[in-house]
Parts: sequence; C-alpha cells; structure tokens
Amino acid sequence: MKVYSTMTREKEDLYSLFTDKIKLFVCGPTVYDDAHIGHGRTYISFDMIKRYLEFKGYSVFYLQNITDIDDKIINRAKENNVDSKLLAKKFEKRFIEDMAKLNVASVNYFARATDHIDEIIDQIQRLIDKGFAYATETGVYFEVAKKSDFGKLANRNIDELETHRINVDSSKKSPNDFALWKNREAPEYSGEPVWPSPWGAGRPGWHIEDTAITEKYFGPQYDIHGGGLDLIFPHHDAEIAQMEAVSGKEPLVQYWMHTGFLNVNGEKMSKSLGNFITIRDLLKNYSGETFRLFVLATHYRSPIDFSEVSLHQAEKNLENIRKFIANLDEKINPGLTGNLEYLISLDDSELREELLKFDYGNIDSTLKEHIDMFFNSMDDDFSTPKAIAAIFSFIKAFKDVDLDVKDLLAIKHWFADVSQILGIDFLKYDNSSSSSGNDVELLNIIADVRSKLRAEKQYDLSDEIRDKLVELGIEVSD
Ligand code: AMP
Repeated sequence: MKVYSTMTREKEDLYSLFTDKIKLFVCGPTVYDDAHIGHGRTYISFDMIKRYLEFKGYSVFYLQNITDIDDKIINRAKENNVDSKLLAKKFEKRFIEDMAKLNVASVNYFARATDHIDEIIDQIQRLIDKGFAYATETGVYFEVAKKSDFGKLANRNIDELETHRINVDSSKKSPNDFALWKNREAPEYSGEPVWPSPWGAGRPGWHIEDTAITEKYFGPQYDIHGGGLDLIFPHHDAEIAQMEAVSGKEPLVQYWMHTGFLNVNGEKMSKSLGNFITIRDLLKNYSGETFRLFVLATHYRSPIDFSEVSLHQAEKNLENIRKFIANLDEKINPGLTGNLEYLISLDDSELREELLKFDYGNIDSTLKEHIDMFFNSMDDDFSTPKAIAAIFSFIKAFKDVDLDVKDLLAIKHWFADVSQILGIDFLKYDNSSSSSGNDVELLNIIADVRSKLRAEKQYDLSDEIRDKLVELGIEVSD
C-alpha cells in the first residue's frame, strides 16, 4: 500500500522499519480547554489510519503525548484563578471522554509531558554535551545554526523561524534558537509550576517534550509521526533537529503524515479565532458516528469546510447504509426485524468470528468490483472518500444481482470489516428515528395536555407547544 509522506511530498510504499510492529506517534492536545471538532477531525483520521493498518495485518503501537504544561494552560489557570495542574487534569479527562464518544479508541498509550520531566532533562543535557544546545540565565536553547539541515521537513530555511519568535531574548546567541528549558525562578513567575533542573527551576519547552517521550518508548527512530498541518513548522522540524542531533541517526521518522484543517468559511477552526464548535456541543445534535462519516468523506490531507448541510448529508448516508444492512438481515433471516440484535455489532467478537466463514472474496464479480474499489482506495494513501463512494456504488449494484444466503452473509462480513476499518458500526440498525408505537402514544399525551390547557384558557402555552411541534415537522390542527 502507498502512504504519502510530507518529507518527500510523494506517495511511498509502506514498509515498517521494525517489521513486527509499526510505531506511530501523533501529537496530542494541549489540555487547557475542551477539544473542538477540528481536533476531532485530526484524531478521527489517525484512528482510521491505525484501524486500517491493523486490518492489513500490521501490528501498530499508537503513542500520543498530552501537553499538560504550557503557557496557554498557565494563562488560563491564572484567568480562572485555579491551579494549573488541576485545570490540565480536568481537560485531559474531558478530552479522553470526547475521544471515546467519537469512537477514537486506538491510542495504546497517552504520555503526559509532566510525567517525563526526567527524560526531558536527560535529553537536554545530551544536547548540551554534544554542542547543539547552550544554557543562559533564562533557560536552555537549541542552537539552530548548528544543524545545517534545519527546516528540511517544511522546506524552509532557518531565517523563517524568526516569524515564529515571540519574545526577543538578548541572552540567546540567535533569535532563531528555540527554548528547550525555560527558567522560571524570577519573581514574576511565582506560583507557576516548576521542576528542578541543572539549569535552575523551570519547565520544558514544547518541542522537547515529544522527542523525550518518543525516544523513551520508541528509541531514536520510528515509523510514522502524525499531526495537523500547522505542526510541520517549526514544531516537527524542531523535533527532527533535536532527535537527529542527539542520536546522530537519520531519519527520525520514516513517514510524516499530516492532516488538513477543518475550516469554517475558509479559515482554520481554532480557539484563538473563536470560530470553533466543541466536540461536546456537536454531540448534542449529532452522533459521533455521523461526525466520523462526515470527516471520512474527505481525504485526510484535504481541507474540510464545516457545514450543517454536509453533516445532515452524512447523517442521511449513515441511515441509508444501516437501512441497507437491515434489509440484508431481513433477507438472511426473514422475520427478524426491529432492533433485535442484528447478528453482530462492532464489539461482538463471537458473531464476527462466525461471519469470517463467509468469504467475500468469492462473491459475484459485479459486486466484487466495488469491494475491490473500497480496498484499492484505502490502499492508496487511505482514500476514504473513494472507499465510501464504493460502498454506495455497491449498494446500487446489489439491487440487480441474484444472491443466495451464503453470498448475503459474505456481504455482511464485508460490512463488518468496513465498520471496523472506518470505526462506524453500520450493522447497528437504530430504529429510534422511525416512528413507533411509543411515538404515537407520546403525541396522544401531548394532544391531551394541549386540550386541557385550552379548556383552562391557557392559550399561550398551548400555542407554544403547537409551534414547537410544527418546528419538528409535526402537523397540529386544533
Ligand atoms: P493543539 O491542542 O492545538 O496543539 O492541537 C492538537 C492537534 O489538533 C494538532 O495536531 C493540530 O494540528 C490539530 N488541529 C487543531 N486545529 C485543527 C483544525 N481546525 N483542523 C484539523 N486539525 C486541527
């Protein structure tokens, strides 16, 4: 299969440096607030990538850091007059809950920056010993000029780093040098969290946290590093410089994978622009699976323009695929309808085992063509939009083909695999949206309440209920 790497700007054949296990690291969140759906986009993408690699037979270890010490966290804690460690803990917990609701369940280990201070200090010391870093009264800095290939991932040169410079610090040899350790002993920093170090009490810079963590768990080189597009420069180039300087080994990473932004009116959704929707807010109106289908309908490297219209479309598409499976079940087991367990759900491993007996590799060739298209698209740098299109072209072609029960079960097997790969349980038929006996009873109760209100001349309240029902598309005549 092919994987696009930002380093070469090409799709490359995938092989693993470490043949038994693919080592995947993705930059995690800075936990100072609830995650927004742009974060959701990036983490759903890498979740799908891990799921597909595992489907292909690779064993993948997925490591993600949690940035739980950072200016943003400290500032937010000061604004709210709360302890910064507690603030970070709270939002870390909420982030993990949000990911679970999006079915992002593939991270094997979350590594907090603050749990790796010893490793960070140790790596900084080795950078100093090798002459790539130096200490001043304000902290320790990576000397960018010492790494002549700095910027090779973004294809930018050192001077462009200046645009990322926030504070001019006269103690640095060059304004381009970035902080590995920030001394925080001065009185203006009192109350901020600090750790002792050979260079004074302080805290780590952002870039070093990731290389200290990946070196601990993966060693100096590993297979895939991921994150959003905005992290390429300077963050990922800084990681490359640090780790390659410390280990003397190249490349740090075999494949650099970056997700495109989730945009609103052409602008990146972000906390600072204030144009964000939190995952929690989105989930009040849409299921996590609908959001996944919405995200995966675009290639992971392309931008997504957020719109309610596209979300509705994803909701309808999900419903249509589920209805197709429900009809398939009806054909396999006539009489089994409603919400009886549809033979299998994402975590129903016994039934999944059963389905494995029915090989979709041998089904009718007019249908097989679409199944092949699904897998070929996934093999082509995880092209989920084409893979999802193949699901719909399959459903269309299905109508014209005569099949026996064995074929139907084989198709169900395919959908079980598709569900697993995309992290969307297509086999779960949720009939809660269709009207049932309960809905009718509920409407009768509401109608009763309204006639009692009118009998008591409470017309305003009665009209308000009628208007709300009309908004829901329920016609009411008095
Ligand atoms: P942060 O907590 O801001 O460092 O972001 C965590 C991850 O989410 C990074 O990989 C970012 O690139 C990614 N991210 C942030 N905003 C967006 C967005 N609007 N669209 C896609 N990914 C994003």
